[in-house]
Amino acid sequence: MPRVGVLALQGDVREHTSMLERVGADVVAVRTPDHLDDLDGLVLPGGESTTMAYLLTTSGLRPGLAKRIDDGLSVFGTCAGLILLAHEILDGRSDQWSFDVLPLSVRRNGYGRQISSFETNVDVKGVGEVRGVFIRAPKIETWSEELEILASHDHGDGDHPVLVRHETLWGCSFHPELTNDDRVHRLFVDAL
Ligand code: GLN
Repeated sequence: MPRVGVLALQGDVREHTSMLERVGADVVAVRTPDHLDDLDGLVLPGGESTTMAYLLTTSGLRPGLAKRIDDGLSVFGTCAGLILLAHEILDGRSDQWSFDVLPLSVRRNGYGRQISSFETNVDVKGVGEVRGVFIRAPKIETWSEELEILASHDHGDGDHPVLVRHETLWGCSFHPELTNDDRVHRLFVDAL
């Protein structure tokens, strides 16, 4: 049984936890640096990236997690979690930091504000159509050719990746934990 952490400082922790349990993971709520021990994978949930970044610093998790990522820990960042992994944050707060490990730039609220939240079908490579729930979602604006694009969406301005993978790191603009469909989580857990 793979041991998968969910960063449990802020955001939709409960929804990811139940999805991961459904696909057969042993789930750990990660709140302190020692919770990173023995993880096979980690989910950074959706929520508010500035708040999560602040709590990563105050909890002391930031350096330990940066080291684990560097050592090859599999991490799946969804929505705010994607922002935390991005190389560059556009429209971020001036002091906003990220782990800078996914080779892409992401625009906070790039699909619009809360009122512009939307749902659409997204075709995921190797999975098929899933329902994509976009809530103040980050938009991937630029990306490296090395990035594996598992799904894209055209919101009227051409295709932008919405589910990506680079080595052990995964990122998603939408919220796969907010539907009843566990196939995106299964994809991540099966790759551990
Ligand atoms: N816009 C949020 C942020 O900047 C992310 C939204 C989400 O995770 N649903 O953190």
